[in-house]
Amino acid sequence: MTLVLGCIADDYTGASDLANTLTRQGLRTIQTIGLPAPGLDLPEVDAMVIAFKSRSIPAEEAIALSRLADRWLRTAGASHVLFKICSTFDSTDAGNIGPVTDALRADCGASIVAVTPAFPGTNRTVFQGNLYVGSVPLNESPLKDHPLNPMRDANLVRVLARQSSSTVGLVPIATVEAGVEALREALAALAAEGYGDAIIDAIFDRHLETIGEAVLDNPLSTGASGLGLGLARALVARGRVTAASASGDQRAAPPGHAAIIAGSCSRATLEQIAVAEHAMPVRHLSPERLVTEGATEAVEALAWAKSRLALGPVLIASSAMPEDVTALQAKHGGAAAGHAIEQALATIAEGLVHAGVGRLVVAGGETSGAVVDRLGLAAFLLGPEIAPGVPVLRTIGDRDLVLALKSGNFGGPDFFARALTAMEQPL
Ligand code: ADP
Repeated sequence: MTLVLGCIADDYTGASDLANTLTRQGLRTIQTIGLPAPGLDLPEVDAMVIAFKSRSIPAEEAIALSRLADRWLRTAGASHVLFKICSTFDSTDAGNIGPVTDALRADCGASIVAVTPAFPGTNRTVFQGNLYVGSVPLNESPLKDHPLNPMRDANLVRVLARQSSSTVGLVPIATVEAGVEALREALAALAAEGYGDAIIDAIFDRHLETIGEAVLDNPLSTGASGLGLGLARALVARGRVTAASASGDQRAAPPGHAAIIAGSCSRATLEQIAVAEHAMPVRHLSPERLVTEGATEAVEALAWAKSRLALGPVLIASSAMPEDVTALQAKHGGAAAGHAIEQALATIAEGLVHAGVGRLVVAGGETSGAVVDRLGLAAFLLGPEIAPGVPVLRTIGDRDLVLALKSGNFGGPDFFARALTAMEQPL
């Protein structure tokens, strides 16, 4: 396998977002949770996103993890590595964007690193080095009150300088508008003056395309999914994306049954469950019993599912209306109830897989995390999007599963039917 793009992401959901963005641009992409396990048998892909939870851990730990990932990606052929950060530049003055970028720059010998969290598709734009979230500067957005990384300064040149050992310059929008050569020259000029990082303005996708083309031949960049989009488009334009079209190793969907587990109580998921009631057997779990005797409730739900799976997909849900959720939380405590229900649903997911389920849809972000952890899944190949932000996933490793992991509010009313159909396609 020879990667054309390697990515190191500082959190899991950001990694998925990036992997999905790259896939949509035509790159065959794998996402791993943490460093790939030794001996992991990877299919031919264009890009790989190694996901950590390194955004808010001590800088030395984030550096150590990121350096290992960087080495892994370059050994697998990646000549360019994107350090994927949040599009709202979530970090503190202690790091970790600056320290990790410094360490990776030193390792790869880059003279200057282009840095931009711009992602116009989600309303993150950078102008004169200032990050805007929609129509307001970062420090006036809800991010100013973030519990871990309160962002009180919108000027990214200053923000990055406070956490970086290098001098931080700016490439303004006028230079980006002037095109790839102008941007390359500006970066070279800053590098010659001793700058180690350059915040680059970007307002529209075309700016990210210019940046992607200008920095692709550099070994390193730091940015959000928007920069991933720019790099991906540059790779496609250069004809360097081959794995997707030459994916002779596409495999038929794994054999076995299909099932859906819902732990989200969002309005969208409640509606999706109501629609599914017309198409498949639905088991509504008792939230009270899930909290007080989760193991028993799980055993009974599994017995119910096993007697029906051969006939078609089944849906098992803990989801409840807001007033019922509030009442349960008041009785048992919100965190305790949530955790207990997540664990019971993970037990059910595990049982379903043992019972021969090969295609599994999970509704709910935290619920999905609990299921992925319980099943010990560490790497996914991304497939087509079922709904915006929700791709089909195929596990890589010992356990062959096709998954759809959906945050509560994602997807239209017919999401479950769409997911089950999309998950039958070869990937
Ligand atoms: P979403 O993506 O919609 O936020 P999550 O899975 O992230 O969904 O979060 C839903 C949380 O609610 C989980 O912790 C889950 O265990 C919990 N939960 C599920 N069903 C119920 C219920 N009936 N009452 C209270 N909490 C519930």
